[in-house]
Amino acid sequence: MRIILLGPPGAGKGTLAARLVEHLSVPQLASGDILRSQIRQGSDLGRTVQQYLDSGALVPDEIIVKVMISRLCQPDCSAGYILDGFPRTLPQAQALDASLVELESQIDLVLYLDADAEVIISRLSGRRVCPVCNATYHVDNIPPAVPGKCDRDGAELISRPDDAPDVVRTRLENYRRLTQPLLDYYAGVGRFHRLDGNKDISEIYQQALQVLGGVVSPVDES
Ligand code: ADP
Ligand code: ADP
Repeated sequence: MRIILLGPPGAGKGTLAARLVEHLSVPQLASGDILRSQIRQGSDLGRTVQQYLDSGALVPDEIIVKVMISRLCQPDCSAGYILDGFPRTLPQAQALDASLVELESQIDLVLYLDADAEVIISRLSGRRVCPVCNATYHVDNIPPAVPGKCDRDGAELISRPDDAPDVVRTRLENYRRLTQPLLDYYAGVGRFHRLDGNKDISEIYQQALQVLGGVVSPVDES
């Protein structure tokens, strides 16, 4: 199962992907996590992309295409993957399509997580992430068991610097200008489904499972 998650920053793509990963047993390929990990490691790639992430600009297409195509060719992706944050521009989508043709592979499903502007803003302002395992929380909506600590590894949670309001403005503007055109691109191809990202995560997850044709477990009434 090869899935693309589309949607604005803060719509909940990563949160939904983390749940689908467990259901489908395929990896989540989160372009932002991959870039942030390169920055933390201080690699050449990390040094090249840091300025873009800091300012909320998109990394140049040729860089991110190379990173993501080589990632999805790795052995753990043989049964599928969930692309979270890639593609984000028309040239990226076209480059992905060209690579998939070469690989004799295809995308099975595009899920578009749509959310209202005020929902997005409140989600990004309350987002907290684990710098060790990338688990994502929200101070009000999805809080960790112990405030400020990751449930999985106990690491101190952080706010992403690019979730600061002035950088968020740039990112949302880039989304509208560069990423939104992808909705038409994929809607025309079929296998495209819109999910209501304003809902709570368990409801969105159920919607996604229905789209996937998964069996939704009945409510346990015992
Ligand atoms: P969010 O889901 O909140 O938008 P991400 O973690 O996906 O954030 O991305 C963070 C940053 O990483 C982006 O603002 C951009 O600088 C860079 N980035 C991630 N994916 C891409 C991509 N496909 N193309 C260009 N830049 C990207
Ligand atoms: P994206 O990957 O699209 O940028 P995230 O998955 O990081 O978005 O979610 C953004 C913030 O909103 C996080 O703080 C996350 O915990 C929270 N969140 C995600 N989905 C929901 C939801 N359905 N309802 C409430 N809060 C959510």
